[in-house]
Amino acid sequence: MVRAFLFGEPGKPGESLEGESGNEATRGRDPRPDVRPGVAPGVRPDLKGFLPQEISEFLASLGEPSYRGTQVFSWIHQKGVASFDEMTNLPLALRRKLDEVARLANLEVLARKSGTQGTVKYLLGLGDGNSVEAVRMKYTYGTSACVSTQVGCKMACRFCASGAAGFVRNLTPGEIVDEVLKMNLDLSRESSASREPQTRPRIGWVVLMGTGEPLDNYDASVKALRVLNAEEGLNVSYRRMTVSTCGLVPGIRRLAEEGIPVTLSISLHAPTDDLRDEIMPINRRYPIPEVTDAASFYATRTGRRVTFEYALMRDVNDDVSHARRLAGLLSGMLAHVNLIPLNPVKERGYARPPRERVMRFLAVLKEARIPVTIRRELGLDIDAACGQLRRRYCR
Ligand code: SF4
Repeated sequence: MVRAFLFGEPGKPGESLEGESGNEATRGRDPRPDVRPGVAPGVRPDLKGFLPQEISEFLASLGEPSYRGTQVFSWIHQKGVASFDEMTNLPLALRRKLDEVARLANLEVLARKSGTQGTVKYLLGLGDGNSVEAVRMKYTYGTSACVSTQVGCKMACRFCASGAAGFVRNLTPGEIVDEVLKMNLDLSRESSASREPQTRPRIGWVVLMGTGEPLDNYDASVKALRVLNAEEGLNVSYRRMTVSTCGLVPGIRRLAEEGIPVTLSISLHAPTDDLRDEIMPINRRYPIPEVTDAASFYATRTGRRVTFEYALMRDVNDDVSHARRLAGLLSGMLAHVNLIPLNPVKERGYARPPRERVMRFLAVLKEARIPVTIRRELGLDIDAACGQLRRRYCR
């Protein structure tokens, strides 16, 4: 799968492969005719991946007034219901009709692991028997949801547990949205006994940084962000959303023109093409100069500072000379470096550098006036490197 990706056989990065990998195309088939243009014939549309206006149009096609669309969207996104039957202010006949002609993605919490510092990791089951991971993280400023966009990944980064397991399929917009909704519901339930509904904590930040490459599932990822941004739902500001990519240049350029000013986070992890070729095979297709050009384009078009993620791996990319090269690369760019002492992945043989080496790397970037932070180390205690919980659960 990875070879095929690198040599361009199944689909180009930056283009959605939705439907190509197919489980969504074969799941939930129904002989009744579809009532919504743009949805594959025979597949009941998943309203969890619809914008409020789209739900209203869908209901209008069933002869329902437009305010029903607002009601349905609110049941899904504010009350977090899992079925049409729970939408008790809809007439029973309409609930039954919706059951026949539509569906709602409904992920199942298969495992839930709480760590220190308010971090909770979820293993979420999909309707076809696959599963994905998502993480809820608590910060002083609020709660963030880090979600997956694919089952597995094609990119084969050498240090990554998800990359090791290969690619299975893309998630649909509704599935990506439901990862956030499930964590939001959980968060709300935790505090429901002690607080009024309007003061309960909610997910306020969304990060596409779980398993998978969001720009390789471009359409579904962007659609999910638009749905999560909808005022009538979770209303997460685009400025509080982050799309993380391993550097799919066409996707970065396309996102820059999308009109959604999300934070772009690029996993760089090496300052030279030779080293990046070794640890991130995607670099052979989109080398560093193309990635940094696309990053500058993104920063110019959106006015947003681009984050470069740099996972520090002991004796691989953590030398002072690497820090100097990195500083040279990013000098003058509207950029910020996020250093991540690697969460060790046993199977992959990469180790975390000692603290003094991390601090030396940081100091070199600071001296060069590159904005830099060290990522708060969440999740070491809960297998929070992508793919670790899923692999443990599936063993
Ligand atoms: S680090 Fe991200 S892009 Fe690379 S293999 Fe893992 S999930 Fe895919």
